[in-house]
Amino acid sequence: RTVYVNGEYLPEDQAKVSIFDRAFLMADGVYEVTSVLGGKLIDFDGHVARLQRSLDALEIRNPLDRDAWLEIHRHLVSENGIEDGMVYLQVTRGAPGDRDFAFPPEDTPPTVVLFTQNKPGLADNPAAKTGIKVISVEDQRWARRDIKTVQLLYPSMAKMMAKKAGCDDAWLVEDGAVTEGTSNNAYIIKGGKIITRQLSSDILHGITRAAVLRFAREAQMEVEERAFTIAEAQAADEAFVTSASAFVMPVIEVDGVALGKGTPGPVVARLREIYLEEMRKAAI
Ligand code: PMP
Repeated sequence: RTVYVNGEYLPEDQAKVSIFDRAFLMADGVYEVTSVLGGKLIDFDGHVARLQRSLDALEIRNPLDRDAWLEIHRHLVSENGIEDGMVYLQVTRGAPGDRDFAFPPEDTPPTVVLFTQNKPGLADNPAAKTGIKVISVEDQRWARRDIKTVQLLYPSMAKMMAKKAGCDDAWLVEDGAVTEGTSNNAYIIKGGKIITRQLSSDILHGITRAAVLRFAREAQMEVEERAFTIAEAQAADEAFVTSASAFVMPVIEVDGVALGKGTPGPVVARLREIYLEEMRKAAI
């Protein structure tokens, strides 16, 4: 596999990043994941826009412009023959010569790494037919979850708690309400209404979330952006999560309680269909 590191395309085993890189020592970096379907990028511009917001929030310089990012994404997709899969992009505050809590001088170049992951049949994930099971876990992440940093230890631990409990993922709960999933935004559907937490620094502003809510409103579905509890989720008709790589994924069980008939419901299936159809059309 060919990867991109700081201006160069290299075989993955020849790519190198300094051990003093701020992301390696301090998780001082941000990332994006863009899906590829049929060799084309899904919602590329949404991801580049959020990359800019994450970098701005951390005062890391964006080393490339939109067209340069696009060129690298396309080069890797084509070079690695990706039909379905994703492109991972990471920008860090770079690698000053030493470890120091203070940010390095302004002219320290950010470290840029991109690689692809091949996922044949990504849009036909069998989990979309069966649905996934989630458990609730206390949200112990830091308070700036709107910045897409590589500081993913707690979400990773929460994912393992879910796996140990025989489930697929965890919904994170703070002050009695669900914030989001470990790597996705969370939704419930009650009486035809789609309920998902409002945007704030408590959650990542999902690129998929924005698109799904837009399509839902265009299809005259009712959307309410507010916090909801686990008890409400357990009493919901349907539930789902969204992310760039899972698209729209039905949730059929929350903390051992089956939702509705215990199988993926019609509203989620329709949202997934609309999302995939529209986003494939708009892919670049
Ligand atoms: N929330 C969190 C915590 C995430 O990690 C992700 C995926 N990176 C999402 C939500 C979904 O965001 P997106 O739709 O942009 O992939």
